[in-house]
Amino acid sequence: TLDFHPTGRHFLQIPGPSPVPDRILRAMSLPTIDHRGPEFGALGLQVLKGIREIFKTQHPVVIYPASGTGAWEAALANTLSPGDHVLMYETGHFATLWSKMAARLGISAEFLAWQGQDEHLPNAPSWRRGVQADLIEERLRKDPEHRIKAVCVVHNETSTGVTSDIAAVRRAIDAAKHPALLMVDTISGLASADYRHDEWGVDVTVSGSQKGLMLPPGISFNALSPKALEASKSAKLPRSFFAWDEIVEMNHNGYWPYTPSTNLLYGLVEAMEMLQSEGLDQVFARHQRWAAGVRAAVNAWGLPIQCADPALYSPVLTGVILPAGVDADALRQLIYQRFDLSLGAGLGKLKGRMFRIGHLGDSNDLTLMATLSGCEMGMKLAGIALKSSGVQAAMDYFAGHPAGSALKA
Ligand code: PLP
Repeated sequence: TLDFHPTGRHFLQIPGPSPVPDRILRAMSLPTIDHRGPEFGALGLQVLKGIREIFKTQHPVVIYPASGTGAWEAALANTLSPGDHVLMYETGHFATLWSKMAARLGISAEFLAWQGQDEHLPNAPSWRRGVQADLIEERLRKDPEHRIKAVCVVHNETSTGVTSDIAAVRRAIDAAKHPALLMVDTISGLASADYRHDEWGVDVTVSGSQKGLMLPPGISFNALSPKALEASKSAKLPRSFFAWDEIVEMNHNGYWPYTPSTNLLYGLVEAMEMLQSEGLDQVFARHQRWAAGVRAAVNAWGLPIQCADPALYSPVLTGVILPAGVDADALRQLIYQRFDLSLGAGLGKLKGRMFRIGHLGDSNDLTLMATLSGCEMGMKLAGIALKSSGVQAAMDYFAGHPAGSALKA
């Protein structure tokens, strides 16, 4: 049975959808306008210009009235032909889903994965590391005929809390002198973790609204490169709704070939205004600081963090591995019922082994402290032995590291 929580806000601490700021909710509550009228064209142009700054690109960004999965499909369908071979990297559940989608679309997806052993944690679950660019380079060097048409990687693997070095993947492709397109999923990374579409030489970046952009779910993105646009001219996979050509054409005047998500676009204008007035570098530093505070708690509890490489800790979420034999889903359910707090589940191979704490969206030090309190109370109620108080450790971290100090450090 579900306890009824009549007052206070629900704590939505999953790694997306993230809590939506009131400012954005208010902006979205304005009346819907005619999507063919003059006012809309101005809104469309404003949104399309602003979003390029968020992706750090000079090139077109296509906006779909679809969830992130739609934008994944758009990236593949616009650039590839039936039977094409692509190289993907198994960072976690989302990378796995993307490769399954490729297979369903008639693309042959080769999956690279880390082959090592977790010496310090013999019973550790899998998926604790980021993309190894050297494996990608090695594989591309063995493809002198250039059968591999694209390299597809996930920037912030939301199922694990591990990021990947996208610039290193670009360097690997260049070092192998390989013409494959680089496609990157930063559905949960954009506007929380540093991301640079042009500088990192990404051909298609896929993202969504419901994470770092702090919007509800419902719109998603393909940021393009000139090379990706060129590839789309000869790509043969069927596409219609997702086809870039008509959208990019109509976007020149701020319109879409079909009805766009008008009210989500109002929200997007507001979100971009918030992000730009804070400054993207400050936004990234804010998430890094939150992540460090949450990790201080997890370390104090004596529980392993899903990400095994400190250089790749996600600023967006932290995965917490529970002792073998503890059912992470039962724990999450208990925390949800008792404390009105939603935490992320272990997905795919990680089901039941870990839970995820989202530190993104409309949050602050005290919402994160409340979240960590909910975790700690729940784990105690579930009889999980904790080394020390994570809540105390996080309080010490946040109190001892004023916002902005991480930037100077
Ligand atoms: N890729 C990543 C990294 C994600 O985090 C998600 C959603 O959580 C998706 C893809 C799928 O996006 P959506 O659920 O919006 O379709």
